[in-house]
Amino acid sequence: MQDLKCQKCNTHFVTETISGVTVKMCTKCRLVFIDGIEVTRLREGHNAYNKDPGGSSGYETTKATHIVSEKCPRCEVELRDEEYIQNSNIHFKLCDKCLSIIFEAGELNKLKQYQISPTTKIYDEFEELFPVMKKVMAG
Ligand SMILES: [Zn+2]
Ligand SMILES: [Zn+2]
Repeated sequence: MQDLKCQKCNTHFVTETISGVTVKMCTKCRLVFIDGIEVTRLREGHNAYNKDPGGSSGYETTKATHIVSEKCPRCEVELRDEEYIQNSNIHFKLCDKCLSIIFEAGELNKLKQYQISPTTKIYDEFEELFPVMKKVMAG
């Protein structure tokens, strides 16, 4: 397995396996990197993931999408910034090439606080959406 470094602080990622899914974390800035292979596995577990081998990442494109200057730790391709849920102001970065996703610590905190309704935080619903991310945030 490649020895990847955080694109922000050049620190080697620590690899953790949560529920059988490998997640990489930066011990310095708490950035979380989830490999595209793992993302695909997660999504397959959640719903039928109609991956178009030609290109589409499977994410719905929002207006907030734009390319950022940071590069994917794996393939050096510039990352795309996406809003996690429309109008949530929670962003993650996506590599169009390897489909890896990257959450920064600040975004994870916002995600943790985000209310999808007056009584429900997205965190409470996370088990269904993205079980591994819930465990990452709890850790
Ligand atoms: Zn870092
Ligand atoms: Zn990549």
